[in-house]
Order: sequence, then structure tokens, then C-alpha cells
Amino acid sequence: MIPIAKPYLTVEEAEAAYDTILSGWITQGPKVQEFEEKFASYTNAKYAVAVSNCTTALHLSMIVADVGAGDEVICPSMTYIATANSIKYVGAIPVFAEVQFGTYNLDPIDVELKITSKTKAILIVHQIGLPADIDTFKALCKKYNLKLIEDAACAVGSEYKGAKIGSHSELVCFSFHPRKVISTGDGGMITTNKVEYYNRLKLLRQHGMSINDRVRHNSKTVVFEDHVEVGFNYRMTDIQAAIGIKQLEKLDWIVSERRKVAEAYHKGFQDLSCVQLPIEAKGYVSNYQSYSIYLKPNCQISRNTLMERLLDVGIATRRGIMTIHREIAYKSASEMPSLPVSEDLHDNSIIIPLYVLMDENVVNLVIETISSLVQNEQKPVLV
Ligand SMILES: *Cc1c(COP(=O)(O)O)cnc(C)c1O
Repeated sequence: MIPIAKPYLTVEEAEAAYDTILSGWITQGPKVQEFEEKFASYTNAKYAVAVSNCTTALHLSMIVADVGAGDEVICPSMTYIATANSIKYVGAIPVFAEVQFGTYNLDPIDVELKITSKTKAILIVHQIGLPADIDTFKALCKKYNLKLIEDAACAVGSEYKGAKIGSHSELVCFSFHPRKVISTGDGGMITTNKVEYYNRLKLLRQHGMSINDRVRHNSKTVVFEDHVEVGFNYRMTDIQAAIGIKQLEKLDWIVSERRKVAEAYHKGFQDLSCVQLPIEAKGYVSNYQSYSIYLKPNCQISRNTLMERLLDVGIATRRGIMTIHREIAYKSASEMPSLPVSEDLHDNSIIIPLYVLMDENVVNLVIETISSLVQNEQKPVLV
């Protein structure tokens, strides 16, 4: 079976976890601090705060951005459900905007149409690793006095206008789930350039505690902590951070390996008239967290049949990115928004295998099988 994805973990990560376990310090401590410093330096952000996953990173970002009950936050429906859940956690209302064909990213024109007097923030998503048009959304936020939050769960190592994702705005949230580009098992990170956000995020992730364990442990005098606000336990462990440090060292290489596979897919599928390939405009560098292909209406094989045929020959695929407004948890909430592009993209696209050290023969097998299925199933053209 050819899997859809595979985390790239080696004996180095295993040894780092081993050493940390035997060090006597296993929860948030020196390794978390080291991972944060290295991550901030990698992304060229001033600060980085490690947390338990990207969902908690998004939750804390909503809080520090002062998003609260009754506020509206504009985000895509075509994204992982955690994007919208994080808005719900603070009692705010996700307002779903349309995405663009070919990039799967938020459409700034539709976003602007959805801004109301209640809008507090725009939550952009760099979908499956391709950066959204950050500058356009920054300008919108400035014009309407809104906060910008980036859901960069999939976009570690991706670049926008010559800089790594993580450096462009005040709140950027990353995921280290195994389905993403680097992994710590579970894990997340928030980058920011704003010292007030940095300090509050550190408080909130650890019960609102004014002094963390590491500082107290290293102190030569007795210190007592205060709990200055109601916080959460959203800590990353030192075991995870030790793995993350090793993953971060490999990140640029991992991205370049993923891009090689994507390049082979671009070439292999370029002559198929019935499929739309991912678009990567100038100034945008995707880490290809996933490779999605869209079956155009002139394609005679249905998306589900194609997935079944591929599974029959041992090639795993997934349906396109979900649309949150059609999930049970969101469906009955209010009137169904009209999002035809998102629905069409979800219904007619598939995500195909892409992972580091994917054998060239395997890549070619995927290309040949999809090409032949898509072509052979086409109805003959009547003349
Ligand atoms: C995976 C993902 C998340 C959630 O990340 P976790 O680390 O699993 O909490 C959020 N948003 C998007 C777009 C994702 O792909």
C-alpha cells in the first residue's frame, strides 16, 4: 500500500527523546525554551511560544487578539475544522468566506464583502502549505481596524515574498501533528513580533502562572508564583521539544524533497486536460504539505470512483479539504452560507500520496495510474 503521508523521523529524534527522558526534566523546560529560540530564529520572528498543538495555539491567539463573545471572525469554510472551532471557543462567530480556485486560499474580495460592524479579525489559512496573500489581508485589516491571525498549521517552511511563514504578522500558529511537514507527535507553536502578546501567551499556556517551573528551579532564592489570570494547561513537553529541535534542523531539506515530488507530479499531469493542478504564483513557495488535484467537469470519471480504483491497486488517497459549513457540528447553527467554489473544490478534488524519500518508481506509478484511469474512463468524443 502506498500511503498518503509519512512523517520523516529518524534515530536522531528517537535518541533526542531518549536523552530527554533520562535527563530528569520531561515537561516544559529547557528543551522547550531551546526549541522556541531556534524556531523564532528559523522563521525570523522575534518570539515563539510552544504549545500542545495548533488548535490550542489558535485558541490562545483569539484570546490575546481580544476576540470575544459575539465578535465575528472571517475564515474559510474549506479548511480543517479546528480553524473554526478556535473561534467558537471564545464565544465568537465564524463567518465563512469563499476560497480561490487553484490555490484553495481565501478570496480577499469575498472576505471584504463579509466584513460587518461586528467583525473583529480575519483568520487566514495557508492551505495545505501554500501561503495565502498575506499582504492583501494585512491591508484589509488596516483599512477596517481588524486583527489578523494566520493558521499556518500546514505551512512550516513555506515562504511568502522571500520570507518564511511566521515573520509576516503578529500571530502565526503552527502544527506539529504527524500529518504536517515536521512532527513532535502532537505539538504547536505561535510566532509573534509583539512583546505583549509573547508575555501573555506564556502566561496563558501555563495556568496563568507568573513564574514558570524552569525559572523557579534555577532560582537561588525562594520564589513564589502568582496566578494572575485564568489560564490553561496547553504546554508542550520537553520530550516533544527535543524531537522538534531535530525536526527543525531537517526542515529545509524536507521541504526541498517534498517539492521534488510535487515537481514530478506537475510534469506528469501537465498534459491531462481534465485535471487542475495546484497553482503556485511568483513569490509563493509551498512546502507541499499535501498535493491536491481537482477533476474538472470534463473529466468523465467521478472523484469517488477514481479514489476506489486507486485503492484497488494499493494507492491511498483522501478526498479534498473539508468544508466546515457542511459538517454536522456546524450545519444547523444558522442559515447555510453560499460557498459554491469551496463545495465544488471539496467534492471534486483528491489528495494524492506525497512524502519524503518517496521512491521515483512509486511517484511514476501514481502518475501513470491516475493518468490512465482519468483518460480511459473518458467517454469517446462523438463526431
Ligand atoms: C491540522 C490543522 C489544524 C489543527 O492542528 P493540530 O495541531 O492538530 O491541533 C488547524 N488548522 C489547519 C488548517 C490544519 O490543517
